[in-house]
Amino acid sequence: MPEAQMVGSSLEVRRPLLEVRHLVKRFPVGGLFGKKQLHAVTDVSFTLDRGEVVALVGESGSGKSTTARLIVRLYEPTSGEIIFDGKDILKTEPRKASLSFRGRVQMIFQDPFGSLSPNHSIGFQLERPIRIHKRARGEAAVRAKVYELLETAGLNPPEEMARKYPFELSGGQRQRVAIARALAVEPEIILADEPVSMLDVSIRMGVLNLMHRLKEERGIGFLYITHDLASARYLADRTLVMYAGHVVEAGESVDLMDNPQHPYTQLLLSAVPNPRAGLRTREVQARGEIPSLINPPPGCPFAPRCPRVMPQCRHTMPEVAQVGPDHWLRCHLFPPG
Ligand code: SF4
Repeated sequence: MPEAQMVGSSLEVRRPLLEVRHLVKRFPVGGLFGKKQLHAVTDVSFTLDRGEVVALVGESGSGKSTTARLIVRLYEPTSGEIIFDGKDILKTEPRKASLSFRGRVQMIFQDPFGSLSPNHSIGFQLERPIRIHKRARGEAAVRAKVYELLETAGLNPPEEMARKYPFELSGGQRQRVAIARALAVEPEIILADEPVSMLDVSIRMGVLNLMHRLKEERGIGFLYITHDLASARYLADRTLVMYAGHVVEAGESVDLMDNPQHPYTQLLLSAVPNPRAGLRTREVQARGEIPSLINPPPGCPFAPRCPRVMPQCRHTMPEVAQVGPDHWLRCHLFPPG
């Protein structure tokens, strides 16, 4: 929600940089004229501000990555609003909006090898966005900017790294190059889609710490998409839990992880090793399968698997209820009010 604050001598409403409102994406199944639809994202809303990390967590197919792709318009939403810096970007033609918007919002992907060209040096791949977005002019200034980006991303010595090709780098170094390339346009927000899930455990922490430093030192906001709740707890200020295209629980990360209320969040956390407990946080038994996203039945999407399912869960979607100062969920166990 926008927050009111004193600006100069007057009270103004300060809006977050990015507001996603009631975002919906349905894909036609069986071609463009197919009658069935896959409900990939249903009524997703959240905000993301400068210098903030918001995590989207959930299993594969929960709609996390689709949500990020909708924000950068790799897919066009079925409905909803994406307000960036006070303007609904969906009211602008995708091509017209792209250069200025992508100069402020960047995306990095799970597979850094796939997102880098194997035929060009790292230096060349960093120069391109600098030139396209006019972040430096002249050969010397562009080269200096490339070296600065490599150093920022922890790739040293920068002169040597700039001459290398992607196949000469480790997975962690390639993801650092992807982050450096995103930084080349001086973005205010980075959408990071599973940025460490393909990396060895030993080098994940280095990339997470780099993101944390960029948040702290440059005020960059991150949408951190992951199925790893432990890293979300470490990195994110707030966490949204997605299931079958819906946000089922959202809140301040530490509170949500220490005090999960939704049966699905409890299920997810039951699989996270807890060093203090020696084994696992708690065991929650879930039955059944993840529901089909093609023409899903009404009611709570978690009902087929929920150990606490009630009759109304199968036909009525729960409303949003507040269970803490910044803690929300959708579950009939917590009726609004
Ligand atoms: Fe379980 Fe019902 Fe809550 Fe859904 S609404 S999570 S089925 S108790």
